[in-house]
Amino acid sequence: MPELPEVETTRRGVEPHVAGHKVTDLRVYDRRLRWPVPSDLKARLAGRVIDRVDRRSKYLLFRVGADTLLVHFGMTGSLRVHTRVPRRLTHDHVDLVLEHGVTLRYHDPRRFGAMLWIAGPAERHPLLRDLGPEPLGDAFDADYLWQATRGRRAAIKLALMDSRLVVGVGNIYANEALFRAGIRPTTAAGRLSRPRLARLVEETRAVLREAIAKGGSTLRDYVDAGGEPGYFQLDYYVYGRAGLPCRVCGTRLKLTRQGQRATHHCPCCQR
Ligand SMILES: [Zn+2]
Repeated sequence: MPELPEVETTRRGVEPHVAGHKVTDLRVYDRRLRWPVPSDLKARLAGRVIDRVDRRSKYLLFRVGADTLLVHFGMTGSLRVHTRVPRRLTHDHVDLVLEHGVTLRYHDPRRFGAMLWIAGPAERHPLLRDLGPEPLGDAFDADYLWQATRGRRAAIKLALMDSRLVVGVGNIYANEALFRAGIRPTTAAGRLSRPRLARLVEETRAVLREAIAKGGSTLRDYVDAGGEPGYFQLDYYVYGRAGLPCRVCGTRLKLTRQGQRATHHCPCCQR
């Protein structure tokens, strides 16, 4: 599943090829994404200029004047930039054609993604309005996390993955950040001290930044490349390593479940 680092890497890969350019055509081959691609999307977009591409949580926001084209990748979605448009393959569902000969192609085998039009301020849209702060933004800091978790009995890992508290921290990154911060994933969020939460903020930001940096080396893959987009493999401390020795202390890592998701942790390093 594309996580925040993949979405941010896509944004960086795509934006230079579309920003400042006029849309000349929109070809929808299959509308059946998570929600149907609006039938009037071509009429809304044609002739308009994409000003820039922003990201909010795991949504890409193509800004078109005061309006927005929202793109979400669901489980398996991806975007590619083509200067010479290849033959359409199975699961290529939408082509956005720009005036300078660039085509942005949306591919999504499982079709859980979305392509929607938001007229007017996007931040008020139901998909966006209840989202917490960005993990890499200034609003996500120790004071915020400390205040937001006071009185909360939920496990810190579940809190960290709650998009109303902070967006875009998926299972992999929650596992890694908690290990790096030395915090046991089941600890009640409200019991953690401010210094420990400060450390968690720093490690959450660090692990996401490292993944985005890793994605930077794949940016060229967004132009005239075939195949599936890569998933960045970091050298994880705990994720996917249950039963193996901890890289720090050698203790066997444990696998548990929290809210249907796998939790990997070191019983020695994480308290
Ligand atoms: Zn350990």
